[in-house]
Amino acid sequence: MAFVNLDEKYNTPKCQLCGKIYRDSKSLAAHLRYGCNREPHLCCPRCNYRAKTNSNLKRHVLLQHSNINLKLAVNK
Ligand SMILES: [Zn+2]
Ligand SMILES: [Zn+2]
Repeated sequence: MAFVNLDEKYNTPKCQLCGKIYRDSKSLAAHLRYGCNREPHLCCPRCNYRAKTNSNLKRHVLLQHSNINLKLAVNK
């Protein structure tokens, strides 16, 4: 194992998709294979952004896709 020498604090297996932290890389690998892919990652209909929750997706859409006019107005 290449990461054995690292301190646990700095070598915490973390899922890049959902942010879940696991005690060991095996658990993370199992999560990625059997768990995370099944979680309802919400996709933005206008870009490749993916959100964990509806509120996050709504906020993203509001900030990124529904304020075009606002951006033009703010851009002095
Ligand atoms: Zn995950
Ligand atoms: Zn988007």
